[in-house]
Amino acid sequence: MKCPYCGGLESRVIDSRSLDDGVRRRRSCLACGARFTTYERVQSHNIFVVKKDGRREKFNRDKLSAGIRKACEKRPLPTGTIDKLIDNVEAELHHLGKTEIPSSLIGDLVMQQLEKLDHIAYIRFASVYREFADITSLKQEVDTLVSREAKTSVPASQAPLLPSEELGTLVKSHQRGQK
Ligand SMILES: [Zn+2]
Repeated sequence: MKCPYCGGLESRVIDSRSLDDGVRRRRSCLACGARFTTYERVQSHNIFVVKKDGRREKFNRDKLSAGIRKACEKRPLPTGTIDKLIDNVEAELHHLGKTEIPSSLIGDLVMQQLEKLDHIAYIRFASVYREFADITSLKQEVDTLVSREAKTSVPASQAPLLPSEELGTLVKSHQRGQK
């Protein structure tokens, strides 16, 4: 997105709003710092999400965004990170070039992105999204994540993982949900 003031090509998204036919973004130019607004129209075909029970519904960016934002609530993520994540997922979906996409695939794409970004958000999203049948499978997911994290060096930007604390919270909300 070219800066209208200096022609710079790199900008940071400070705010984005969904419109009926696209997205309105407030941007800040990385070269000169000027702020400008862009309207990006969704020119691609409509995508239908096929749910687990076979129902189809039109892909809704806001709905996806709400789920991701909930998972990222109060996580120390830089401004614009979530929008970028949603952009990435949406771009991948359009890239597939399919009219119908299973909801499980969308969930997997989101989880791939969240895993790189923030482990707590990842676990939260996974617990809602995967609808873990029981707490054991949720615990397994956390354990896998922890052992994977132990093997790879964690970037400094990644907040420390507190699986036991987060797991405790999830267990409580899970049990509430079952009553
Ligand atoms: Zn500029």
